[in-house]
Amino acid sequence: MKKYNIALIKGDGIGPEIIDEAVKVLDAVASVENFEINYNEFLMGGCAYDAVGDPLPETTITGSLASDAVLFGAIGGEKWDNLPREKRPESGLLRFRKELGVYANLRPASVYDELVNASSLKTEIVRGVDLMVVRELIGGIYFGEPKGRDENKGWNTMVYTRDEITRIAHQAFKIAMNRDKRVCSVDKANVLDVSQLWRDVVTEISKEYPEVELSHMYVDNAAMQLVRNPKQFDVILTGNIFGDILSDEASMICGSIGLLPSASVGNKIGVYEPIHGSAPDIAGQGISNPIATIASASMMLRFALGEYKAADRIDAGIKQALKEGYRTKDLAQFDAKEVCSTSEIGSIIANYAAKCKL
Ligand code: NAD
Repeated sequence: MKKYNIALIKGDGIGPEIIDEAVKVLDAVASVENFEINYNEFLMGGCAYDAVGDPLPETTITGSLASDAVLFGAIGGEKWDNLPREKRPESGLLRFRKELGVYANLRPASVYDELVNASSLKTEIVRGVDLMVVRELIGGIYFGEPKGRDENKGWNTMVYTRDEITRIAHQAFKIAMNRDKRVCSVDKANVLDVSQLWRDVVTEISKEYPEVELSHMYVDNAAMQLVRNPKQFDVILTGNIFGDILSDEASMICGSIGLLPSASVGNKIGVYEPIHGSAPDIAGQGISNPIATIASASMMLRFALGEYKAADRIDAGIKQALKEGYRTKDLAQFDAKEVCSTSEIGSIIANYAAKCKL
């Protein structure tokens, strides 16, 4: 029997509860598809700071690098907001991504037919939306130097090198080749020099993918177009901060931020995680939506482990649960037959995923 080693990083807030449900679903499909998963837990974020004084202990990096993939919950919370920046949970996460070299964050946003009513946009605008945000993850303004602050001034720097743009552009074009073959590169080239370089390099790389149609859009227009007509997009290629913002916007098109998964890839080991944060406002109440994390586990099976049937099972299990009207609280007002706790919907999805006919 095939065996995989997965590093589990539960993190803070709702992190532990959503990861527990993803593990439940993973175990259910693994037993049907005849493979085994060993989980090794590592600390990151506020809980790691509390335990060892560092939001990213060395063992978390080495343990993750020694695994087949990382399944990640979420980190952060008010409790740690006043620590020096390098001790804050978010700094640990940024450092982690850099250490693992996961420069490409893939954020699919597709609307489940069963949830078209849950979108804040009109049904006819959102039905059939299926786009992929390809966000550069370890460069740009979140990492650029110089950065700092004094009493009266704060500063950060948006930097991209030709190499950084080249590798993320290749990812986007390759992904587009397996989709509708359209890439929209989003930047702010009318104002930022770094964006002009981005645009020039993306245009150069596009010549290697003649079948893919490339367009460019300024980020402010893209934010508007996403809510005006999201179906115009296939692959959105963009930098770190723009992708962060646009993918949160895309999540509301789909109904809830609790639905959207992501994969961070680029080097040997990928990190699979929901796009949302640790939601401290609802942590510990059993009302968080674990679907984004369960769908991230499906991406992990597909991209990192090559367990395509098991991934299909999870996707089918999520769809079936939604079709039957099971909803967590965030989606309770949208055609719910039954409002479920985090753990209940996890069990329902696990059951459907294991039993579904592919
Ligand atoms: P958030 O994504 O945690 O929450 C935003 C809103 O969405 C909240 O009202 C929350 O209750 C809701 N929400 C999020 N996930 C949900 C889910 N699965 N089910 C139901 N509702 C859900 O963003 P925030 O409030 O801006 O940040 C909270 C903390 O998370 C901060 O410390 C922030 O730095 C951190 N954060 C971490 C990550 C990460 O770990 N990758 C990402 C973003 C924010």
